Amino acid sequence: MIDLFYFFTWLAGLFVVNGRAQAKRRSSAGWIVMFGAVGFGCFLWAVTVPGSSIFAWLVSFVPLLVLLGSPSRAPADERACPACAEMIKAAALKCRYCGSDLSPIGGGGATA
Ligand SMILES: [Zn+2]
Repeated sequence: MIDLFYFFTWLAGLFVVNGRAQAKRRSSAGWIVMFGAVGFGCFLWAVTVPGSSIFAWLVSFVPLLVLLGSPSRAPADERACPACAEMIKAAALKCRYCGSDLSPIGGGGATA
């Protein structure tokens, strides 16, 4: 059953989307909804247009590729320590991981 192959590979993609979204600190629910919506649209495409199932199957993985290609999103109040690259509070003056002294955001010039 080629249809079952499509479905299970897509289901595997759904788990990958969930895992990658969480690893990249992105909204996994949002990405799953998007992946599900695209997958459902591709499913309708595959069942309504004869011979299109392979293309619909490929297109259904586009959101996964977009997610894999997108950069990790750091929370707005965090930044990477320039010394050890751990994520620390943006307002921190000393890294809590390596103890490095840090300059305030903006290079310490015009910060009020
Ligand atoms: Zn550090």
